[in-house]
Amino acid sequence: MVAQHRQPPPQDVSIPASSAVAFRQLAMRASGVAALVFLASGLGILTRPDHQLATFWPTNALLLGLFARRPALASPAGWAAAALGYVAADLLTGTSLPTTLRLTLANLAGVAAGFLLFRHVRQEDRHLQHPLSMLGILAVSAVAALGASVVGALTSHTLVRMDMLKASGFWFSAELVSYVAILPVVLLAPSPTGAVARLAETWTRLRRRPARLLPLAALALAVVLGVVIGGPGAIAFPVPALLWCALAYRLFTTALVTLLLCMWTLIAIAHGVIDLQVQAEGPLPVISLRMGMALLAVAPLTVASVNAARNRLLATLNHAADHDALTGALNRSAFLRRGRTMADQAQASGTPFVAMMLDIDHFKSVNDRHGHAAGDAVLTAFATRMREHLRDDGLFGRFGGEEFAALLPGLGTGDAHQVAERLRAAASEPIGLDDGRVLDITVSVGLASPSASMPRDTLEQLLSRADAALYRAKAMGRNRVVA
Ligand code: GH3
Ligand code: MG
Ligand code: MG
Repeated sequence: MVAQHRQPPPQDVSIPASSAVAFRQLAMRASGVAALVFLASGLGILTRPDHQLATFWPTNALLLGLFARRPALASPAGWAAAALGYVAADLLTGTSLPTTLRLTLANLAGVAAGFLLFRHVRQEDRHLQHPLSMLGILAVSAVAALGASVVGALTSHTLVRMDMLKASGFWFSAELVSYVAILPVVLLAPSPTGAVARLAETWTRLRRRPARLLPLAALALAVVLGVVIGGPGAIAFPVPALLWCALAYRLFTTALVTLLLCMWTLIAIAHGVIDLQVQAEGPLPVISLRMGMALLAVAPLTVASVNAARNRLLATLNHAADHDALTGALNRSAFLRRGRTMADQAQASGTPFVAMMLDIDHFKSVNDRHGHAAGDAVLTAFATRMREHLRDDGLFGRFGGEEFAALLPGLGTGDAHQVAERLRAAASEPIGLDDGRVLDITVSVGLASPSASMPRDTLEQLLSRADAALYRAKAMGRNRVVA
C-alpha cells in the first residue's frame, strides 16, 4: 500500500494566512495612496511655469479628501506612502533633493492640519447636506492651506524669490483654491458602481429632456465671453450660469463643474488665454485672483446644498402630506387623487380593475381589552401585512379608524376575490405585540368592479358599492369577502 500524505488541516494555516491577507491589504492601500500622490503631483508639476510653484496643485486636496472619506487609509503606512509619492514625483522631474524634501514637508503639513480639523466635521456636512456645510469645508480648506503656507513660506522664499509674507500669501492662495474646488468633488464622488448607474440615468434623462443641458451651455457661453472680453470682471462672468447649474443639477455635478471652471480659469489666465488687463507687478494679482476663485467657488456649492436640503424637505413634506403617520398607508385624499388617475387610465384602456373596502371586525373590543396602544400596533401590523400581499401597481390607503381601501388594476372580479381571500387569511394570522402578547383579529372585505351597465363609474361610486358589499359582509357575520 502507498502511504497517503495528508494536507495539514486548514486551521493550521489560518492565522498566518489572515495576517498575510492583512499585510497584502495594507501594502495595496499604501501603494494606491503613493500612486495617487505621484500621479497628481506629476500633473501639478506640468502646470509649474518656469520651475516656480505650480499653477494648480491638486495633490494635497485629493489626499485630504481621500483620507477624510476613508480614514483607514490614513494609517502610518498611508502617510509614509504619500510622502514617498511626493518625493518620487519631484525627484523624477528634476527638483533637487533639499527642495523636494522641503516641498513635501509643506504639503504634508497642510494635509495633516486639514485632517485633524476634519475629525470635527459632521458626516452630513462632509456631504454638503446643510446650507452652512460649504462654509465648514471652506474653514477646513483655510486651515489646511495655512498649514502648508506657513511651512512652505519658511522654505520657499528662496524658490520663488519673494519675502516671507508674500511667499506665504502665494502659497496659501494656491492651496486654498485647490482645496475649496477639489474637496467637494472627492467627498461627494459616487462609488464606481453607483457612478455607472448614475451615468446611465443621466443619459436617459438627457435624451428625454435635452433642455437639461441649458445651464451647461450658458456656462460655456460665459467662458467664451470671458476669453473674448477679458478684463478683471471676466472671472465673475460664469457666476449666474454656475448658480443655474447649482439649482438644476445634483450636488456632485455642481462640484465637478465648479472644479473644472476653477482649473480652466487659473490655467487660462496663467497662459494669457484670458487677459485680465491687470498691470500691477509682483505676486499680489495672482494671490488675489486665486483667493477670488476660491471664494467664488463657495457660492454655487452653497446654493447646491441649500437646494438639496430644500428638495429633501419637500420630499419629506410630500410624503407626510400623502401618508397616514401611524400605518404608512396612503391617506384618504391621496388615495382618492391617485385612485382617480388610475381609474381613468384603466377605463380609457379597457383594463379591468377592482375596488376593495376592508374593515377590521370588532376593533373597538381590541382597544377596550388591550388598550389604545395595542390597538395602534394592531393597525400598523394589519396595514403592513396587507401591503405585503398586494402588488406594487395597486393602491392601498387608510380611510379612517380601522377602515382601509385598495384598488387592484388588471384584475377581474374572480381574481380579486382570490386576492381578497388571501388578505383575509393574512389578517387572521396571530399578531405578536412587542410586550409578548399575541392578538387575533379578523377582517371583512367588500369588492366592486365597474359594471357593464355603468362602464364609466366614478371612483367614488365604485367605492360606495364596495362599501355596501362590506356592510353586507358585516351583516352576514363578519370575517368574509362579499362582492
Ligand atoms: P365592526 O366589526 O362593526 O367594524 O366593529 P368595530 O368595533 O370594528 O367598529 P367601530 O366603528 O364600532 O369601532 C371602531 C373603533 O376603532 C373605535 C375607535 O376607538 C377605534 N379607532 C379608530 N381609530 C383608531 C386609532 O387610530 N387607533 C386605535 N387604537 N383605535 C382607533
Ligand atoms: Mg370595524
Ligand atoms: Mg369601521
